[in-house]
Amino acid sequence: EIAATRDAATGPGHLADGTAVPLLANLGSADGAEDALEKGAEGVGLFRTEFLFLDAATAPTVEEQKAQYVRLLQAFAGKKVVVRALDAGADKPLSFLNDASEENPALGLRGLRALRANEPILRDQLTALAAADAETEADLWVMAPMVSTVEETRYFTALARQLGLKTAGVMVEVPSSALLADRILVDADFASIGTNDLTQYTLAADRLLGSVASFQDPWHPAVLKLVGEVGKAGRASGKPVGICGEAAADPLLAVVLVGLGATTLSMSPSALADVRAELGQYTLEQATAFAELALTASSAVEARAAVTAAAAAK
Ligand code: PEP
Ligand code: MG
Repeated sequence: EIAATRDAATGPGHLADGTAVPLLANLGSADGAEDALEKGAEGVGLFRTEFLFLDAATAPTVEEQKAQYVRLLQAFAGKKVVVRALDAGADKPLSFLNDASEENPALGLRGLRALRANEPILRDQLTALAAADAETEADLWVMAPMVSTVEETRYFTALARQLGLKTAGVMVEVPSSALLADRILVDADFASIGTNDLTQYTLAADRLLGSVASFQDPWHPAVLKLVGEVGKAGRASGKPVGICGEAAADPLLAVVLVGLGATTLSMSPSALADVRAELGQYTLEQATAFAELALTASSAVEARAAVTAAAAAK
């Protein structure tokens, strides 16, 4: 019984019917690896590489980057590690990648757009990742941030594969990508939904602006509908669909996201225990029913209330 308790507290994520839902960690540095593993992270679902270089005045070298990635991949030997290419711009500007004079940086040359405009930096990063991968035993996946077109997906996945990376995917954080997820998943090996930006761009509300903070609610049925589109495309193609935004850390919403087709959930390690416990309460059939309820609501408040009531009545 002690073993069972331990498993429930830190073991692999699963629904009540046994459906596996791997629970992964969001990290911004390899320093968090030990804590994430102690809390039962089954891998890393989002490694935010831009956090490593927020203070850098110039682009990091291949060697500098490789050392950081080796540390991370060694800590997660035998496990899946999803590393995101530099997501520079808007809330996370990097002086060597962004133009500080843009009037609307959230709609500007950010994420993959900024990397593409500075392709040597992207090539260096992917080269460093491939070199680190060759020396370590983790299962490395790479993904691009802020992808808004199929063409960008093709560009990134082709470059990553050309530079020696085996598994290349994209983040879905813009409505256009969610709506065309079936076409994006032709080229991408996987999709990972960033619900923070997806909510910001769906509701057209700056995620950092207090006066519009009430719009930044991933329970909004418009956001969930887009998540559902990606989930459908994932099921149809057999390709994984992860969630790595804050929404995955809300236990009941995590159940809804699985009902919408998410196959893995990634979150701050501190959220793992509560999400794991909640997932274990419901079957896939129940999660799917919760997703249907949330999708038919007219607001975030209604969606949350409807699912909360259904969960209490189950
Ligand atoms: C997101 O947008 O949901 C996401 C995970 O990326 P970030 O929060 O780093 O923009
Ligand atoms: Mg984002």
